[in-house]
Amino acid sequence: MKLYDTKQQLAIEVLPSESGTVDIYCCGPTVYRFAHVGNLRTFLLGDLVRRTLRAEGTAYRYIQNITDVGHLNDDMHIDVAEDKILAQAKLENKDPFEIARFYEGTFHSDLAALNILAADAYPKASESIGLIVDLIAQLIYIGAAYQGNDGSLYFSARSYKDYGAISRNSLDQLRAGYRFDAEQSQGQEQGKRFHADWALWKAASENRAMTWPTPWGVGFPGWHIECSAMSIHYFPNGVSLHLGGIDLRFPHHENERAQSNVATNSEFVRQWVHGEHLLFDGKKMAKSAGNVLHVADLIERKIDPLSLRLLFMESHYRTQMNLTWESIEAAHTTLKRWRKKIASWPGGGRVDQSITSAITTFFGDDLNTGSALLLLRKFEKDESISDADRRATFLALEDLLGLELNQMSPTELPSEALALVQARASARENRNWPLSDQLRDQLLELGVRVNDGPEGQTWELI
Ligand code: AMP
Ligand code: ZN
Repeated sequence: MKLYDTKQQLAIEVLPSESGTVDIYCCGPTVYRFAHVGNLRTFLLGDLVRRTLRAEGTAYRYIQNITDVGHLNDDMHIDVAEDKILAQAKLENKDPFEIARFYEGTFHSDLAALNILAADAYPKASESIGLIVDLIAQLIYIGAAYQGNDGSLYFSARSYKDYGAISRNSLDQLRAGYRFDAEQSQGQEQGKRFHADWALWKAASENRAMTWPTPWGVGFPGWHIECSAMSIHYFPNGVSLHLGGIDLRFPHHENERAQSNVATNSEFVRQWVHGEHLLFDGKKMAKSAGNVLHVADLIERKIDPLSLRLLFMESHYRTQMNLTWESIEAAHTTLKRWRKKIASWPGGGRVDQSITSAITTFFGDDLNTGSALLLLRKFEKDESISDADRRATFLALEDLLGLELNQMSPTELPSEALALVQARASARENRNWPLSDQLRDQLLELGVRVNDGPEGQTWELI
């Protein structure tokens, strides 16, 4: 498979690391709020890469971190900035760890709603403090980090000569555009020696929540260092592919690259891959812009969340995509049409290998998913192929597409039936058998048959 490398600015072959597997690290969510569907577009990128590698028979490993401490809401003014989790905890009047665990849970259910494959591990920043402290100690030993006179620990940007290669920034250029300047800082973050240095560890008072003791005093980790610590820990032979949204290119990935390369004395990440932003109402989807959409908003409108998965695949991951309700509805219509057709087409057909391999090839070509779907739509309507063969071919692509094409969607249930199905589930939980039977009969009248199995009730349209 080929993917575009942001640093080299060209599509290159994805290659395994020395360990023999394609080792993938994807920056994960900051768990202080529900993930919006823009975040999910970026997380889907990691899923599509893995499904393509799997289809090609390439082994991979996949790690995604959970940022539950240290991500400040203003990366450039860290002395006045607040930790996103702590700010939310204050707002909800809850313990910050409770906030983090809650939104970590919703992150996983959102991934499941879009059929995004699970990672091999989801290390949390708050549980990786030992790794982070060890890495900082190593950077100090090498001479790439220092303790500022404010007690915080900083990475010395000038200790890494190739700084800026991912985002094509140089330290000189940065100085002009950098919003934070040591001389103009008027007391903020005075501890650092050079404008482009960044905090690896922030000194904090003991009564701040989420702090840990270290040889240099009590504090909490900076955001960039967690990704270096975790990726070096899980993939000591180097990372094959590093993924994230385009906004992470600078400063997050630039800083991470400097830390990891200095610590390992290598070009630690072979390839940097970035997904473009999802826009809504013509603006980047972001909590601060007030234009976010969540999986729950789709469910509320009875739209299968997998419609979004289909819609995201229609555009190339490196182009900005403007989301509209019309486009989501249209994707839902396509999904329902495919499922209905597949359910009605007879079994026993033969997989059209020329189609499955052409589609896999499109995926392997820097995730040209748009062309793959175009071909699939043409194939859907190709009357020269038998229905049975078309069914077999669509189903053979399920592992790659992840659209649950062999299922009618739960959103196909008429709303009154959905309410009855839910009522019957709680009647059964309360062992109210007469009510459960009555609801079963009512559902039959609506054309829905319920079956009771060891896993609870299931339903089918008749
Ligand atoms: P966060 O939880 O804010 O740390 O972001 C998680 C991921 O979502 C990062 O890789 C971001 O780059 C990505 N991201 C944030 N906003 C968008 C957006 N509007 N479209 C696509 N990806 C985004
Ligand atoms: Zn990261």
